[in-house]
Amino acid sequence: MQFQRTILPSTQVPPASLTRADIAKEIPALLPLYDDFPHIIYTKSDPIYERVSYAFNKSTSTQPLVVIRPLDEKHVQATVKIARAAGIPLGIRAGGSEMLGRNFKGVDKGIIIDLRSLCAVKVSDDRASAKIGGGAIAADLAVALSKEGVFTPIGWHPRLGYAGWVMAGGYGLYASSYGLGVDNLLGARLVLADGSVVDVDENNYPDLLWALRGAGNGIWGVVTQLTIKIYPAPNLLIGNLRIQKKDWPAVLDEWANNIEPNLPDEFGGDLYFRNIVLDQPEMTIFFAWCAKEGEDIQKGWDYLEKIKSLPGVVVQHIAESDFATYITSESTAQPASFQLRGIITKGLTSKVASALLRQWTNPKIYTGIPCHFAHGMAIKPNPGACFPLRYRHRLFPVTSLHAELGGTEEGASLVAESSARVINDIKATGDAYVGASYENLIPPVDTDLEVTFGKEALERLRTIKKQYDPDNFFSNGYPILWS
Ligand SMILES: Cc1cc2nc3c(=O)[nH]c(=O)nc-3n(C[C@H](O)[C@H](O)[C@H](O)COP(=O)(O)OP(=O)(O)OC[C@H]3O[C@@H](n4cnc5c(N)ncnc54)[C@H](O)[C@@H]3O)c2cc1C
Repeated sequence: MQFQRTILPSTQVPPASLTRADIAKEIPALLPLYDDFPHIIYTKSDPIYERVSYAFNKSTSTQPLVVIRPLDEKHVQATVKIARAAGIPLGIRAGGSEMLGRNFKGVDKGIIIDLRSLCAVKVSDDRASAKIGGGAIAADLAVALSKEGVFTPIGWHPRLGYAGWVMAGGYGLYASSYGLGVDNLLGARLVLADGSVVDVDENNYPDLLWALRGAGNGIWGVVTQLTIKIYPAPNLLIGNLRIQKKDWPAVLDEWANNIEPNLPDEFGGDLYFRNIVLDQPEMTIFFAWCAKEGEDIQKGWDYLEKIKSLPGVVVQHIAESDFATYITSESTAQPASFQLRGIITKGLTSKVASALLRQWTNPKIYTGIPCHFAHGMAIKPNPGACFPLRYRHRLFPVTSLHAELGGTEEGASLVAESSARVINDIKATGDAYVGASYENLIPPVDTDLEVTFGKEALERLRTIKKQYDPDNFFSNGYPILWS
């Protein structure tokens, strides 16, 4: 896995340049769409097809037959109506960071609707909310809000689509201070399976809003706009500290017993275990301290001293920053071909720490385990959201790839074995919530929807799904509510 500064591809792309004859040959069912909107349809014959069709996980080998880049909601409506009438599979894409490429299922004979041109950001007059396009990307959104002197919590990866991030839950550096993404989602505008448009908020279609807040990725309709809470920009103290594997036992012991049980709400940082240098696994402490308007950032500097006193800590770079500067300047994960497993635990307990210590035995396999801790505002109950994990927990997504045997069956099987060992060792500690899942970062194989949502909420989701999408047209998303 490579980590480098992400140069964001522009969200604006040249108009498609296909002729009517190209469409007639490649996907004749879209001729009516072409006749009305010729410049939004890209097939492999278009010179910029590659730019609009890639997925973050390169093991997603399916290439869409056609990519449609709507420039406004009318284009989305027309696409949905035509695709549904003709029975063409459709996947929805915003940032493209889906870890398993589930939105690409079957689209080698169908459509990816790529929303990245729907990226407008409009701050409300009272500066308490903003309306943003359904394809807005994290870094662009952070910069746009920062120009207005406001802020909203977002995930740390610059390419993340806000919609994809928020609708499953939305973990990030600010969750313990401002709540998860879903707690900051006020409303949405959706194109439903019949092509109609609905404005969803607490007064209109509240059942759909509840469902979008935690079980929303690609299964209800195409979200063309979101209304989100915004805040005066806080001060952030942010950076990295690194710890070599030889020092992990002492640090993890202290972390498990004294630090984690007492983490202040202002601390929204993460731990990240990984071996970017294959034979030198490291634990990174992403230090993130959030001082809201009027709060003293000095408290964060004081807390940093405590973390710095852990054995073997090497401080990489820590500075006061705003989120927009941070997200646009840090190095971050690049698209790669990897496998994903995941598990949720009670925290980084001593037993979980011991299980982690036993991993990274094969220096040919890269394994990255970021672990997000949910505490503070992130676990405050929100009855307006179906997002279920409102208890202290740590989320361990496990991404792995073979450095030499990528793309081979042998490599795939070695990687599968290695990541299964991580999951099984953590399960065996008895400190895991086995089956509980955050589907943006944990795959279906490690997910039990009934454990995750509970029987009643799951039934409610299924009932709402039948009401708004009875023939399951939007089937390239998650959670999978139907059998
Ligand atoms: C490097 C990296 C870092 C990450 N960091 C975090 C993190 O800090 N916190 C966190 O919570 N998650 C994180 N994730 C997971 C991320 O939140 C999910 O992968 C998320 O689905 C990405 O959304 P996207 O729009 O970029 O992806 P896409 O692939 O475009 O979409 C993801 C899913 O959402 C659906 N979707 C997207 N937009 C819409 C829309 N407008 N209408 C309807 N459906 C839509 C798609 O159909 C698809 O099912 C990270 C992922 C990566 C690869």
